[in-house]
Amino acid sequence: MKLNDPYEPVIGLEVHAQLLTESKAFCSCTTKFGNEPNTNVCPVCLGMPGVLPVLNKNVVEFVIRVGLAMKCNIAQRSIFARKNYFYPDLPKGYQISQYEEPICSGGYVEIDLDDHTRKKIGLTRIHMEEDAGKSIHDLDVDTLVDINRCGVPLIEIVSEPDISSPREAYLYLYKIRQIVTYLGICDGNMEEGSLRCDANVSVRRKGEKKFGTKTEVKNMNSFRYVERALEFEINRQIQLLEEAEEVVQETLLWDANQNIAYPMRSKEEAHDYRYFPEPDLVPVVVDEPWIDRVRATLPEHPTTRYDRFIAEYALPQYDADILTTEKSYADYFELVLKELHTKNKEQIKLVSNWVMTDVLRVVSEQKIDIKHFPISPTRLATMISLINDGTISGKIAKEVFEEMLKSSDDPRVIIEKKGLMQLSDQRVIEKVVTEVLDRNTAQVEKYLAGNEKVFGYFVGEVMKATKGKANPRIVNDILKKKFAHIQVSKG
Ligand code: ADP
Ligand code: MG
Ligand code: ZN
Repeated sequence: MKLNDPYEPVIGLEVHAQLLTESKAFCSCTTKFGNEPNTNVCPVCLGMPGVLPVLNKNVVEFVIRVGLAMKCNIAQRSIFARKNYFYPDLPKGYQISQYEEPICSGGYVEIDLDDHTRKKIGLTRIHMEEDAGKSIHDLDVDTLVDINRCGVPLIEIVSEPDISSPREAYLYLYKIRQIVTYLGICDGNMEEGSLRCDANVSVRRKGEKKFGTKTEVKNMNSFRYVERALEFEINRQIQLLEEAEEVVQETLLWDANQNIAYPMRSKEEAHDYRYFPEPDLVPVVVDEPWIDRVRATLPEHPTTRYDRFIAEYALPQYDADILTTEKSYADYFELVLKELHTKNKEQIKLVSNWVMTDVLRVVSEQKIDIKHFPISPTRLATMISLINDGTISGKIAKEVFEEMLKSSDDPRVIIEKKGLMQLSDQRVIEKVVTEVLDRNTAQVEKYLAGNEKVFGYFVGEVMKATKGKANPRIVNDILKKKFAHIQVSKG
């Protein structure tokens, strides 16, 4: 899409998030991912005749959590419905979902745009449903069916058509992932299908009130694919309109290898799901005390935490953004601060630097959960306090950090063992400084002649001679004193 285009896109997303309950939505089978196919099954999720579903209370609890975090209305009474269709991975012949009376309606997700302004994306509804199984298309043995996923609880978050660009769609998905993972109701793992997105898109002439005909792109398991698929589809629709052709309402599939979306089915032959109220389940009743109990257990919203990091710690937006990406990062950072008992803004920025660059570098390199990071917040805090009290320099601290990754020793023990203690003994440093000055008479002349840049050269030489261990502040003081002395004795 070009900037001077007379068209604008209108986008609404339907996001499925798999809930992190231990058992399925309507039976006690495990939801564990990656087990042998068709082992997490029972008569209920296999859809045997005569069995009865029983709703897992945690599913309701989780959807209330997300509903509150997204400022939805939580219905005191909602009902399940059957969504009927035939598919080999759906032995019952229907999915239990919610249709006319979903548990959550209204609400919004606030996204952070690139220019640091915020935009509210309205939500139509959030409802509960169960997942279908999985067909595995194997070239050697045709198609296999795995029922393990049947009955795994999902929520579907349906947005209003408030999203105005592929980039906004990306940021919306990012925020949804952040919220559901902060809440601990979904692991946010897109490769494993824990978050899936269908994108509805239409285009219209700018200034036009009426929406154009929309298409729906399915089958995207990464935020980047959603962004690219939308770009592709917007361009295709604009081209049709330019050529005075019509956009046909249809469902498209995204092919990530070829970067194209191709039609799956048109609306004419689309499924009529014949929704009707699920006769085997009673209505879901949620009372005020229950909602209040859930509200009391909500963690700080990621956006609120981002704002607080800036207001309370005076961190740059960049830092606050990175540190609040995941709840576990923000927790780690704040645990280090707590250990250090500091309110000093420079100290806090120093901690931010260590967490952002050193800790998160290793976490992403080794693809580990920060909870399994070998340096606990307490040990990192101890190490940083040793920089603060002058025991080690910032440079040596990097060496200590590397060592701490390999051993569980207290940083003090590592410093002792490796002889990394900062050199703060005035007399020893003075001796080294004298030697350096004696060896570099030409440079000394330059400095005395007014070339102040040479000062850094001397600091570097002293650091080299002390293997980086001299206290830079003391080195600076002594050098200045020496030069003043030389000047006086010359003059
Ligand atoms: P459907 O019945 O085809 O699923 P819905 O009205 O339920 O359609 O809307 C599904 C999604 O499509 C919602 O996220 C909604 O915001 C979005 N949507 C609806 N109309 C349009 C449109 N004209 N252009 C883009 N998105 C739309
Ligand atoms: Mg739809
Ligand atoms: Zn089961």
